[in-house]
Amino acid sequence: MKNTLTIALSKGRILEETLPLFEKANIIPIEDIKKSRKLIFDTNHDNIKLVILRATDVPTYVEHGVADFGVAGKDVLMESSTKNLYELVDLKIAKCRLMTAGVVGVELPSRRLKVASKFVKTAKAYFAEQGIQADVIKLYGAMELAPIMGLADLIVDIVDTGNTLKANGLEARDHIADISTRLVVNKAAYKTKYQQIEPILEMLRDAANKA
Ligand code: AMP
Repeated sequence: MKNTLTIALSKGRILEETLPLFEKANIIPIEDIKKSRKLIFDTNHDNIKLVILRATDVPTYVEHGVADFGVAGKDVLMESSTKNLYELVDLKIAKCRLMTAGVVGVELPSRRLKVASKFVKTAKAYFAEQGIQADVIKLYGAMELAPIMGLADLIVDIVDTGNTLKANGLEARDHIADISTRLVVNKAAYKTKYQQIEPILEMLRDAANKA
């Protein structure tokens, strides 16, 4: 009997685009994930299970080897400190940009900057690389409020259409990174389950390239 392979999927916006891609790769959950409150799903393959996680938890499950693969945004991977992962396939879905943003028309002060973000590690690395002195304040949501309320001069956030920034009187400033969704694999599983993992990788790679 073959070992089961577990694939950790990020819920939310990424999941909306992951499920059609997996369907193209012929990995199909046997129940409608979006209509269920379950967190573990069987698929049309006896040996493949899907688990649905909060995006930021996906690298952790893969690092610990309880999930063999993970589907996570590059933003989450950049922010995560996990090490035992190979980033093998760019699935080319949920594309967006990580940007700095500030209040429309407001110039930055000459003092040390205050930056609010949920991407603290990435933001710190970016400002350090630019040689800009900045204190980064951790927020968990509604980043757009921070510059309006005077909590921060800038935010570091994900921008897709730019509508969220615009609706809050903000404008995108500097581009930090292009983001898309990646398939990561546990390093040990990649070696020990290579025979099983490689065909699945190939199916997902093909599906991503055809999309
Ligand atoms: P938009 O208004 O289209 O620029 O979308 C911006 C908001 O949507 C951001 O605050 C993000 O939280 C969220 N968002 C957009 N694209 C993505 C993505 N690919 N992954 C995660 N969140 C996203």
